[in-house]
Amino acid sequence: MVIEKSGMKFTAPFVIAAGLSFAACAQDRPAATRDEPSISVIGAAPASTARRQRRSPASYNAVATSRPFVALTFDDGPHPELTPQLLDVLRNEGVRATFYVIGRNVQTYPEIARRIVAEGHEIANHTWSHPKLTAISAARLDQEMTSTTEIIQRVTGRRPTNMRPPYGAVNERVRQSMFQDHGFDVIMWSVDPLDWQRPGAEVVRQRLVDGAKPGGILLAHDIHPGTIEAMPGTIRDLKAKGFGFATVSQLLALQDAPAPRPAPVAPVVPEQAAVRRSE
Ligand SMILES: [Zn+2]
Repeated sequence: MVIEKSGMKFTAPFVIAAGLSFAACAQDRPAATRDEPSISVIGAAPASTARRQRRSPASYNAVATSRPFVALTFDDGPHPELTPQLLDVLRNEGVRATFYVIGRNVQTYPEIARRIVAEGHEIANHTWSHPKLTAISAARLDQEMTSTTEIIQRVTGRRPTNMRPPYGAVNERVRQSMFQDHGFDVIMWSVDPLDWQRPGAEVVRQRLVDGAKPGGILLAHDIHPGTIEAMPGTIRDLKAKGFGFATVSQLLALQDAPAPRPAPVAPVVPEQAAVRRSE
């Protein structure tokens, strides 16, 4: 599926039928049974206005901007070895990213969560235990989100403003809850390198670089060695293509202003219309 907005095309995530091959909080990928295939790309107003005035849930798989920025996002950490390695790479490259952390991992590795924030990255909510949100009760949903927000805030002093649903599984009920109960934007992605399949660092790099477009949200996981290995080359290639790097919140703030309305067309009086017809 392709969503077209403001002249840009974003390819929606792949739908894969493959089963899970990793333990509990492994890869994000759109569930084959995802309830709603459509993802909205909101670009109707400048972010500052849109976000303040929004009255309905918003989900993004890309941001409608003409500015050459992408957001690198990393899910499922913190991981005790790989996340610090990734943070080293990002620091060396001067790049800021967004980390969709799992609450129970923040509880286990609070010092890594603190380092994520201390080094200028965005930290956001990826639930406490990585369930499929469309398949759990409202009470459990609230518990997953609230406990994760609380541990992030307690450990880092930062309150997340957006979330990513495990497996990309969302429906209207989940979206409403994220908006009404938690004040969260739902953040999907525009490029999925399928790094959880561990295709090798070169493949991950190529897929991310080939898929990047202005406003793109690049999905990756800081729990796979090949993903970390892919990052220096990925970042260098993206820089060579002219891209800058923004956190998800920064990217949302780069949304293009709405196109100006066309000037009203003056009504044609009958006499003039008659003259034109006779010409
Ligand atoms: Zn995940």
